Amino acid sequence: MIIYLDNNATTRIASEVLEAMLPFLQESYGNAGSGHVLGHLSEGAVVHARDQVTAMLGCSPAEVLFNSGGTEGINHAFRGVFEGSLGKRHFIISAVEHPAVMAICDWLKHQGAEITILGVDGEGRLDLAELEASIRPDTALVSLMAANNESGVLFPLEQAAQVVKGKGVLLHVDATQAMGKAPLDLARLPVDLLNFSGHKFHGPKGTGVLFIRRGVRLKPFMLGGHQERGRRGGTENVPGIAGLGKACELAMGHLPLAGAMAELRDQFEWAVRSTIQGLHIHGASAPRLPNTSFLGFQGLEGEALLLKLSERGVCVSTGSACTTGQKEPSHVLRAMGVPMELALGTIRVSLSRYTTRDEIQTVAGMLPGIVEDLRGSGLYAKA
Ligand code: PLP
Repeated sequence: MIIYLDNNATTRIASEVLEAMLPFLQESYGNAGSGHVLGHLSEGAVVHARDQVTAMLGCSPAEVLFNSGGTEGINHAFRGVFEGSLGKRHFIISAVEHPAVMAICDWLKHQGAEITILGVDGEGRLDLAELEASIRPDTALVSLMAANNESGVLFPLEQAAQVVKGKGVLLHVDATQAMGKAPLDLARLPVDLLNFSGHKFHGPKGTGVLFIRRGVRLKPFMLGGHQERGRRGGTENVPGIAGLGKACELAMGHLPLAGAMAELRDQFEWAVRSTIQGLHIHGASAPRLPNTSFLGFQGLEGEALLLKLSERGVCVSTGSACTTGQKEPSHVLRAMGVPMELALGTIRVSLSRYTTRDEIQTVAGMLPGIVEDLRGSGLYAKA
């Protein structure tokens, strides 16, 4: 039996999503650009999905660009702004952004851009005063994530948008983790660009959206045909788009149940806190996504814990990456100032709407024994 608690990595596709996709993989396989009946059916599916996305985002259809996911949306936003920003070469990001943001910023640096990286506090929170002070006349873009993929910590987007838009600077939001788990209303939130991926909230992999607010001029990312108003060439992934639209519709219906998910997560945290010594929950006192728990265990290696859980069919992830054979704490934990040993002993547990109370109780029940065994074995990482 599998207990899947790695939903910030990816999620199981909803059966309704699969159902919405199947016709466009089977009998209705026309190119959305074709003038015949099958083409029209595909085009209709894209129009319908765009409406489903706009209903969720609170924007208009022309502001929605379908793409392959978060990484593409991030690359498009940064490169598009850089190439169109006459003389403005300064970009601001936070220290806990996704590696896709870090990588595109590295690339931009080599093209002559200057990057300011904002720190976070021990709970992963952003300092709005630091954000305000870092904005300059030549700032082209501020990019902030809505929710962190490791800790689940939410950035205060409304206040950040006030600061950034108050200074007349473009604001990009990476909403890949927040979408479908936390409310985001673009009719109220004055962001210029926002990206997300379908597979993080029970949609298909390889699908996503870049929201481009009306009036924001962004260079196309992929040159080719006229698809997506010439902003992204290439035959539309109609089954994927239909699935993504359905995932948005379903997520809207489930958002009011976020409180129940947070309650389940909190019960899990309460159970492990009361049975395991030397446990720290990163970001627990900051506003967080309802589904994420980022747990640091003193005196054991997160990787070993992941493997032991995996042997029992439980899927989680760690807060470290293996670079050139060396275990390194994630840049998120480093930015939060988490001591090396605790960082290397960190795992991420992320729930979905399909996670049951039984599953949570089972995992909370097996953790103390595994942790005790691992600590007893002495096989843990030292800083
Ligand atoms: N941004 C965040 C916050 C993410 O968590 C992820 C994926 O984990 C991405 C961007 C990239 O999304 P994708 O892998 O779907 O391109």
